[in-house]
Amino acid sequence: MKRDEIFHHVESLREEMVELQKELTRRPALGPESGGQGEKEKADFLKAWIVQNLKKAEVQEFNAPDPRVPCGYRPNLIVFYPGKDSKRTLWVMSHMDVVPSGDLEQWKHNPFEAWVEDGKIFGRGVEDNQQEMVASLAALQTLERLDLTPPDRIGIVLVSDEETGSEHGIRHILKVAPKLFKPQDLIVVPDAGSQEGIYIEVAEKSILWIRFTVHGKQTHASTPDLGVNARKASAYLTVRLCETLAKRFPASNPLFDPPLSTFEPTKVQANVPNINTIPGEEVFYFDCRVLPEYPLKEVTAVIDEVVRSVERDFTVSVEMDYPQREEAAPPTPEDAPVIKRLSRAVRSVLKEKTKTIGIGGGTVAAVFRKAGLNAAVWAKQDELAHEPNEYSVIDNMVDDAKVYVDFFLHEERE
Ligand SMILES: [Zn+2]
Repeated sequence: MKRDEIFHHVESLREEMVELQKELTRRPALGPESGGQGEKEKADFLKAWIVQNLKKAEVQEFNAPDPRVPCGYRPNLIVFYPGKDSKRTLWVMSHMDVVPSGDLEQWKHNPFEAWVEDGKIFGRGVEDNQQEMVASLAALQTLERLDLTPPDRIGIVLVSDEETGSEHGIRHILKVAPKLFKPQDLIVVPDAGSQEGIYIEVAEKSILWIRFTVHGKQTHASTPDLGVNARKASAYLTVRLCETLAKRFPASNPLFDPPLSTFEPTKVQANVPNINTIPGEEVFYFDCRVLPEYPLKEVTAVIDEVVRSVERDFTVSVEMDYPQREEAAPPTPEDAPVIKRLSRAVRSVLKEKTKTIGIGGGTVAAVFRKAGLNAAVWAKQDELAHEPNEYSVIDNMVDDAKVYVDFFLHEERE
């Protein structure tokens, strides 16, 4: 069957996809951290939808116990769709949970009653991550209705708890079924993307947040010799850190934008309330995004050196701790089968060449990469995640469904 005919079928599912978006939005899957009751209602709805719409599929459940929610577990579903060969599986993972609506004043309408306007569907969760959930399910619907058997088995993974650490989501699945995902499998995690839909994220920087607490001795500003100025020492420490870290970690990697590691002073906690007092204590923070070529322990060793030099020169003592310390996962190689096959599928739908990139923040793809599995992050979206009046461009959802159909059907060597 020709590509055009298949894509035409995907187009015919447009209204059904919008309806499914609305039904999903009506079931706010908020984790207990956000005061919610978890994802059970949404998962039950999805299970029933799958049974009704995908006769060839089989659903497996991986419930993660969680006493904080009424049903006592966080649901995780895997929809398996048979292929000609089951030696490897093509996976698409999306998450069922959403973030809270935030200030309702900022929403035009009820965030949990999705509405359509100007070719977009609005509501909490419609882009993050329902657009891709619906698109990947519509791709399976297309295979089923056109009676097309893909070369490989397909696994659509619908997880809980992505927004709050994935402990009860993908991390749970990997723990209870460590052999489920195989090194030869192809994994797509469509939880971030770009308006053009051409960027495929393959790498992430390490994240290091540091809190510095500088102890000196408070005194009157007219007699600085009687105290130890924690503010002044902190200023020197900030400058020395910026200069030294940039000098010692100069590598540039064109995959990333910006291509360098970044070491930025950010938050400063309030110290004394008045101008004529020398602060005896100062608390401030750095946010560092480090290229994966540098292990974080090399960075912290240099930070220690700089801290010691300031302690010596200014007779202060400095305490450090790390509110976040996340070592980058090994990047997915740009020529990995998942990248080649996904690039080809994107090209055939969007008629554009793809570009592999690295990003400064973390995505859940890192969980797979740390487990030795290649994963690609991709989606065509405006990136409205977590914002008020979150929307999904309906054309994007339909295009992404076509990309999945193509990705499922055509081998990368083509
Ligand atoms: Zn998300």
